[in-house]
Amino acid sequence: MDGAVMRSSGVEQGRIGRISVEPHPEGAVAVYLIESANGRDAMLIQGLLDELSDYVDKVQLSRGRLVSYAVQATNGDTAVLDEIERVLKENYPFVVIQRTFDSVIYKIVKELCAETGSRLMSLQHCDICGKPEPFPDTVITLNDESGNKLASRCYCRTCTASTMARTNKDYVISLLSADRRSFGMLRHSELVRSRSKARRLCYKVKAER
Ligand SMILES: [Zn+2]
Repeated sequence: MDGAVMRSSGVEQGRIGRISVEPHPEGAVAVYLIESANGRDAMLIQGLLDELSDYVDKVQLSRGRLVSYAVQATNGDTAVLDEIERVLKENYPFVVIQRTFDSVIYKIVKELCAETGSRLMSLQHCDICGKPEPFPDTVITLNDESGNKLASRCYCRTCTASTMARTNKDYVISLLSADRRSFGMLRHSELVRSRSKARRLCYKVKAER
């Protein structure tokens, strides 16, 4: 991991030269908790999810005795979540499934990890409300003038939905101002829409003089 990113807790706002915004489509989410007997089980479960990567995004929550994943159906079809459930239940004696991700199920994962000596993986949290969020609604990346990444900020759907913004630009500024690390100073900068890739919106930051 590069040092600049690790030290990014104090991003100097003056260094932010480019901002890119990536909205993620909404999709049904399921959480799967499986007691695995050994490493082979863990590999089989990962293999199953990898095979379905055209249809789902996955975030591993824990490894070891307790293998757990949050999985999002990416093409609007929830049948794939049913299918994963069916395969897991057929093959493993202890499977817990919740068809949504929330802090309650995440707490259960944490507790079971502690009880079984399993390893909790790091999970991103919303940078506004702080709640654990495997599939953020919007990710904003802050880069310097030459395109080096300074920080990546993610926001949950509840927080993005409560943002009052009339334009995309307002939306970006509102989220960054509400961010726990408060990038509100960007309010005084001019954002200029620049070339965008795929689903991304990109802006150049012109600091006010
Ligand atoms: Zn939030």
